[in-house]
Amino acid sequence: MVNFFLSLRRNLISRPVLKRVRRVLPPLSETEEQALHAGTVGWEAELFSGKPNWQYLHDLPKPRLTEEEQAFLEGPTETLCGLLNDWEINHERKDLPLEAWQFIKNNGFWGMIIPKAYGGLEFSALAHSSVIGKLASRSVTAAVTVMVPNSLGPSELLLLYGTEEQKSHYLPRLARGEELPCFAMTGPTAGSDAASMPDSGVVCYGDYQGKRTLGMRVSWNKRYITLGPIATVLGLAFHLYDPDHLLGEQEDIGITLALVPTETPGVQIGRRHYPSYQAFQNGPTTGQEVFIPLEWIIGGQERAGQGWQMLMECLGVGRSVSLPSMSTGAAKLCARATGAYARVRKQFRLPIGKFEGVEEVLARIAGNAYLLDALRTATTAAVDQGDKPSTLSAIAKYHSTMRMRETINDAMDVHGGKAVCEGPSNYLANSYHAIPVSITVEGANILTRSMIIFGQGAIRCHPYLLKEMQAAQNPDEKEGLVAFDQAMFGHMGFLLCNFGRAWWHNLSGGRWSPAPEAGVTVDYYRQLGRMSASFALVADLTSLILGGELKRREKISARLGDCLSHLYLLSCLLKRFKDDGQPREDIPLLHWCGQRELYLIQQTLDEILANYPSRPVGGLLRWVLFPWGRRFGKPSDDVGRQCAALLLSPSSSRDRLTAGVFLGSREKDPIARLEEAFKTVIAADEANKKLRRAAKERGLKSLSLEEAVSRGVISEVEAKLAEKAEKLTWEIITVDDFTPEELSGEQVLRREQILSGG
Ligand SMILES: Cc1cc2nc3c(=O)[nH]c(=O)nc-3n(C[C@H](O)[C@H](O)[C@H](O)COP(=O)(O)OP(=O)(O)OC[C@H]3O[C@@H](n4cnc5c(N)ncnc54)[C@H](O)[C@@H]3O)c2cc1C
Repeated sequence: MVNFFLSLRRNLISRPVLKRVRRVLPPLSETEEQALHAGTVGWEAELFSGKPNWQYLHDLPKPRLTEEEQAFLEGPTETLCGLLNDWEINHERKDLPLEAWQFIKNNGFWGMIIPKAYGGLEFSALAHSSVIGKLASRSVTAAVTVMVPNSLGPSELLLLYGTEEQKSHYLPRLARGEELPCFAMTGPTAGSDAASMPDSGVVCYGDYQGKRTLGMRVSWNKRYITLGPIATVLGLAFHLYDPDHLLGEQEDIGITLALVPTETPGVQIGRRHYPSYQAFQNGPTTGQEVFIPLEWIIGGQERAGQGWQMLMECLGVGRSVSLPSMSTGAAKLCARATGAYARVRKQFRLPIGKFEGVEEVLARIAGNAYLLDALRTATTAAVDQGDKPSTLSAIAKYHSTMRMRETINDAMDVHGGKAVCEGPSNYLANSYHAIPVSITVEGANILTRSMIIFGQGAIRCHPYLLKEMQAAQNPDEKEGLVAFDQAMFGHMGFLLCNFGRAWWHNLSGGRWSPAPEAGVTVDYYRQLGRMSASFALVADLTSLILGGELKRREKISARLGDCLSHLYLLSCLLKRFKDDGQPREDIPLLHWCGQRELYLIQQTLDEILANYPSRPVGGLLRWVLFPWGRRFGKPSDDVGRQCAALLLSPSSSRDRLTAGVFLGSREKDPIARLEEAFKTVIAADEANKKLRRAAKERGLKSLSLEEAVSRGVISEVEAKLAEKAEKLTWEIITVDDFTPEELSGEQVLRREQILSGG
């Protein structure tokens, strides 16, 4: 009987639907297919399910460094930061000093991801990320120089795919810094669409070390390659062809990755780009018909043609660590420095941080720094438990760099002219210059938001979508129909459950949405569960309505991606607050970030519905999602004031928020000087108040320190403190200036020349 109904269902319902799906479903390209299967799926699938299992989130490891990792952070990383002067690096030397290069090499900075068995440091993703974050708070050039060999490139590819021979040759040399790697994929015509690279190799016999050898004749024209100008080994991506069938039947073998020593005849490196005034080594590389043996393919001959899949697999890990760490380091620096500056700098006789306009910006800086660290630690936790998070890493890359941009812009605004005027004592402008680099690399941001986050995330995370697509593409009609029928009816049940869940939770304001704990976070868990159900419903219906068309409808895909991203950011926030032991002092940060993320989720859903591809479905969804209208507001002014206050005086919360920022020494480092001024100004507050009061009583504008001491208004100790605070404040508000010759060298034009035109 059951079989009868099942067969009726298949033939009457599933078969015609399958027929239509087969007709409208655009075929997936090989590279899309590989991207879809690369990496792992984790917490994002819970968010897609509409009823997240909180245990999964809480089971992700807490961020804890081992003793060895902590010692590396406090030892060699701190020392390296002390060797760096970003002004000198980027504007004078246009390179790191030799001492810093040697230090990086001798202390294993390039081997953080290489196992100890090969001589590397074998650090966790968290430790690796903490090192990059600290370096980024001191010098973008140094952070990039350390980051690249530990990110997507030769070491990671060798670890995952290298032959034993390749691993034992290269990995110890890379760990010791005897080899300097780079990875060359991008070219003039193949940027975001990297898989379209025209660089090619042809399988042939050639001469290698005097022997007739089976190899490839490779030609390439790559640009923007970080460390390329000085690399000793080039990780090279090219399209391999075998027209003479020397390897087998296939002529078009596909994208292939090889390790090419740069001393190989024909390899051109050395010229440099100068990206956004940053002095890290970056440049083009070319080669014309360079013969390389087949064994240089990463993983050997059997990996020929698997390059794209290998890259996609690795991308998730590198993308989880590199730019989220750099962005967090920069945001923490902004939080620490801007709060201090806003306390030291006075206008209208008040610290500028006390004005509501500045306070609002400070709150955003504090909130972003808190949230970015939450994002960084949750994402590296996933990597440390063995995930290769493809969607979460795209979210982390996009949102960390965008929030970093927002934070640096805010910090620049609060500093005013102090951050605008360049020079050795400007500790912000360089991070500002570097913003577009982070936005562009590892998947340019517009593309990441519009195509990757939801486009790939939906298919990967949805419990049935990929199964339906695979069933529709199954060449075996019968097997395809059975699989499609199962997936389609599962999908319908899933959709109906989320419809009911979203309707009920939105109607009841999320009051009965399950939460794993009571207390200050309970409502955020409930609202996150409620919003997850709303998102799952909208995502599902939109995918059904648009099908393959969704790929071209980037605006809606981007907004759905934003919604998923804000759900993830809110999850990271809750995890961080729990992992930190729910400190009372951090509650304003929890509220500011939580309220903002809920507001952004609501805004994104509202925008999706306002532009929905089907008016009736859009109307129905609005009724389900917003039965009482839009209820979430932006973070309240009161919460904002409390967050800003955390930056304006020393506290454990400020230290937690900015942990890992390099402060340095008073003699050499502007941040250390700012920190000293900040503490001294606060310590001298009481004395200054007494001085002001005494002057007011006497009808004077001000009272000299000597007079105040002689009249007993303040003690000698207080007078010294007030004097020191004034001196340090003066140091901080001072900006660099230069002689015309210092700025322009030989090119200086005299005023007379300018006026006379000759
Ligand atoms: C400083 C620096 C270092 C780099 N290091 C390396 C390296 O070491 N190795 C390496 O191989 N590469 C490297 N790159 C290359 C980097 O990954 C590329 O710059 C990036 O992939 C974008 O390519 P593009 O600059 O050619 O921009 P384009 O691809 O021309 O893109 C321009 C704009 O169009 C948008 N866009 C493109 N397609 C779409 C789409 N379908 N939908 C929506 N928007 C779209 C992009 O988001 C971007 O905003 C580096 C680049 C820079 C600037």
